[in-house]
Amino acid sequence: MKKIANYINGKLVEPISKNYIDNYNPATGDVYSLIPNSNDEDVNEAIKSARAAFSSWSKLKNSERSNWLEKISNEIHNRIDELALAESIDNGKPLKLAKSVDIPRARDNFKFYATAIQHYASESHHTSEGMINFTLRKPVGVAACISPWNLPLYLFSWKIAPALAAGNTVVAKPSEITPMTAYLLSEICQEIGLPAGVLNIVHGLGSSTGNSIISSDKIDLVSFTGGTSTGAHIASIVAPKFKKMSLELGGKNPNIIFDDCDFDAAIRTSLNSSFANQGQICLCGSRILVQRGIYEKFKNEFVSRTDQMIVGDPMDEKSRLGAIVSKSHYEKILSYIELAKEEGGSILTGGVPVKLDGDLSMGWYIRPTIIEGLDQRCRTNQEEIFGPVVTIQPFDTEEEVIELANSNDYGLAATIWTSNLSKAHRCSEQIKSGIIWVNCWLQRDLRTPFGGMKNSGVGREGGWEALRFFTEPKNVCIKY
Ligand code: NAD
Repeated sequence: MKKIANYINGKLVEPISKNYIDNYNPATGDVYSLIPNSNDEDVNEAIKSARAAFSSWSKLKNSERSNWLEKISNEIHNRIDELALAESIDNGKPLKLAKSVDIPRARDNFKFYATAIQHYASESHHTSEGMINFTLRKPVGVAACISPWNLPLYLFSWKIAPALAAGNTVVAKPSEITPMTAYLLSEICQEIGLPAGVLNIVHGLGSSTGNSIISSDKIDLVSFTGGTSTGAHIASIVAPKFKKMSLELGGKNPNIIFDDCDFDAAIRTSLNSSFANQGQICLCGSRILVQRGIYEKFKNEFVSRTDQMIVGDPMDEKSRLGAIVSKSHYEKILSYIELAKEEGGSILTGGVPVKLDGDLSMGWYIRPTIIEGLDQRCRTNQEEIFGPVVTIQPFDTEEEVIELANSNDYGLAATIWTSNLSKAHRCSEQIKSGIIWVNCWLQRDLRTPFGGMKNSGVGREGGWEALRFFTEPKNVCIKY
């Protein structure tokens, strides 16, 4: 059985304890590879090597670091088919999605920061009394980058690329549920000869390996994407040490459909924003709010189109939904469907597991599920389910829907469907979330600030925001 290796000081190495944990293929429910169960010793080695590499890496010219990132990007591009297949097997997502979204985006993350760092300028402030202030921006040191399982290489590289571009060295941990493409990235770095210690990838459980990384006094900042409760735990350890921290956390996003919208576009995109990646995207619109004038028409069309979605083999081109990432997550989603029923919700479609044939009979599949008849205050509408489950509810006025949209502790993303420009502006201003999409969903320009308000996190990734996060500003004031 394939054993994944840690990538420390430029070498692919076994965990010091030689302990491994099982890695499952969600499509079949089988263990198909082994992941290092790294301990404090492995983590310390990784941090030591990152510290040793910092001095020379941070002193490289921006153009030289840019070249390294460009090489990584090109190699991801060359291996796109292999990486997409690995991502699909590891995560359960349709191969088509991994090939068209996940891996191209990981490639683009490196490409984007390879160029961004060459255009990054710091501020200067000239005062009329013969004084000029300018800001020096220096890399912070060793960055701890920790990422989740839903978009494995996509989110892993979204942190690593700006950290490295800005001149930091990195100790990174992918999710133990989907470690494979991070491992393949370490192979790529070795092949292109990335200097030893610049990037270190340590595999293992969050509660031990992850905790060991973020608790170390020898890391300088933490960039984390994952669940809100994990984020709160990390903040409790990192904040009292006054280290920089970026937390990208959960969401429970409203998808608002006004009756003056482009109906076909709203339906088509809502199918995606509800169920893409089995609904396991932090940006999915899991609370659908539809204006009463078109509620019945929208609901009927949405249910009927959802009924036609194929849940099946992730390798099959026809599958719109693949497998749920793990057994425990599959059980969690099903338990939320039961909760929704207890809370008085009616299941309009789905609500059941899917049993496939042959090799896939033990895989974890759930029909896309639409639930009606629930109040926004109930747990189903308040808590993040992170699966192919949405609720649908009518509203009457703009004021009412803004209140419904904001009646949640999360504030990551919102989608608004309307042909009235003024209404779109008013809603965008008043909805408390870090990202608003009007008449679209998941359109990404990598220059824009990305992140959430309230329980969805602290800080922003993307564009200059990430380069500011991964550098320490120092103001120099000169009187002349
Ligand atoms: P998770 O919080 O369980 O794990 C995320 C990562 O943190 C994993 O690598 C895990 O091993 C690690 N980890 C867990 N405990 C740790 C600890 N004590 N110390 C250090 N590291 C630890 O989240 P998940 O289940 O992997 O991912 C799903 C969550 O991620 C959802 O809530 C989703 O909304 C969120 N998410 C947010 C964004 C965003 O950009 N805001 C993007 C994707 C996913």
